[in-house]
Amino acid sequence: MSAKIRIAVVGLGTTGSMALWRLSQLPGVEVSGFEQFGLGHGYGAYTGETRLFRTAYHEGAKYVPLLLRARQLWQELGDTTGRALLHPYGVLTTGRESDAPFQRMLESAAAHGLAHQRLDAAELRRRYAGLDVRDDEAGVLDELGGALRPELAVLSATEQAQRGGAVVHDHERILAITDSEAGVRLSTQHRELEVDRVVVTAGSWIDQLVPQVADLVEVRKMVLTWFLPRTFTDFEPSHLPCFIRDRDGFHIFGAPSVDGYSVKIAGMDIWGGADADRVENANLHLDPDRVSAFGSRVHELFPGVQPEPNRFSVHFDAFTASRDPIIDRFGDIVVVTGLSGHGFKLAPVIGELARDLAVDGQAPGYHPDFAVSAHHPIGADRTG
Ligand SMILES: Cc1cc2nc3c(=O)[nH]c(=O)nc-3n(C[C@H](O)[C@H](O)[C@H](O)COP(=O)(O)OP(=O)(O)OC[C@H]3O[C@@H](n4cnc5c(N)ncnc54)[C@H](O)[C@@H]3O)c2cc1C
Repeated sequence: MSAKIRIAVVGLGTTGSMALWRLSQLPGVEVSGFEQFGLGHGYGAYTGETRLFRTAYHEGAKYVPLLLRARQLWQELGDTTGRALLHPYGVLTTGRESDAPFQRMLESAAAHGLAHQRLDAAELRRRYAGLDVRDDEAGVLDELGGALRPELAVLSATEQAQRGGAVVHDHERILAITDSEAGVRLSTQHRELEVDRVVVTAGSWIDQLVPQVADLVEVRKMVLTWFLPRTFTDFEPSHLPCFIRDRDGFHIFGAPSVDGYSVKIAGMDIWGGADADRVENANLHLDPDRVSAFGSRVHELFPGVQPEPNRFSVHFDAFTASRDPIIDRFGDIVVVTGLSGHGFKLAPVIGELARDLAVDGQAPGYHPDFAVSAHHPIGADRTG
């Protein structure tokens, strides 16, 4: 066995690129990465122009320390590569204050002293001309929030890892992973090889590789939609932060215009399950009537946009029942999956957790809710 620990990362999308980057910084590790498609490909759960970064977190205050560490790492990756990866526009959440997610968001901000502003309906209307606001709606502006540029971030982390000595194999699919006392054997379409540890970050393709978690995740379809503003300046980043809006059970999120002509406003949990086993086999078109109906609902909350989406894109992501990710180690295999539609922002810190689990078997900052044993089979409680 070599003096260095040999670690392979399988899947160089969101979490794999970050794990590779964090592992490449360790002198005692020889790290390699495998990606089934070309680097920066368009099939990953990270595609679609922007991802929201938030710290006042309705998913629970337990995430806040991880989010604050992730923010440092996003800044480090941006500074090192000279690329603007995190745009600090802030994130505005609107809804009824009495709603449970709104309360959890406020609790997480209070528990961790996060910089935020509370806005009543009148103030929301005064600041944000493109929005319809009801009298019973309130807002919270998360000042540490913003928009991440995901495609650029994934490629930046991979390149940074290569600069740190990581060896990257693209267009090389891992077909099987076998753990034994001698190490971990990887079979690809080209060869067999052996390493000491493996970090499997295969996202919605995980069931092929780690059958132990196959029942714990479900692949869901997520659709992004863009709209044309009537008054463009209302949707520029100087006028509008990123946003999440909840009204009458309708949950939408988006970002101000980053392309100079349209604004992303997308719905969560409304497009149904995945209609194919893999995104590369999916039908990427949508029923025009459903698209128009969705546009009409968006227009009620955003009268400042045209009601018909001007474009859309279809994506897959792996969801768990609790929407907590799975991050765990069995033998010499670390598995990361189930980021459940909200994990992009956490990716660099998840990369660190995976690194520490692979190298030391334990990770500071790890939450027990991420363990395989904390998850239960998904299906009965699906929401979308
Ligand atoms: C439309 C949409 C909007 C979202 N919005 C937000 C948001 O605003 N904020 C937020 O924080 N999160 C958001 N998320 C969630 C987040 O983007 C995903 O949870 C995250 O990108 C999943 O990362 P991953 O590493 O698990 O998967 P991926 O990024 O898909 O990476 C998996 C990689 O593994 C590779 N791979 C798979 N199998 C193999 C194999 N056998 N051999 C080699 N390589 C393999 C794949 O090709 C891929 O590159 C959103 C997700 C979607 C889909």
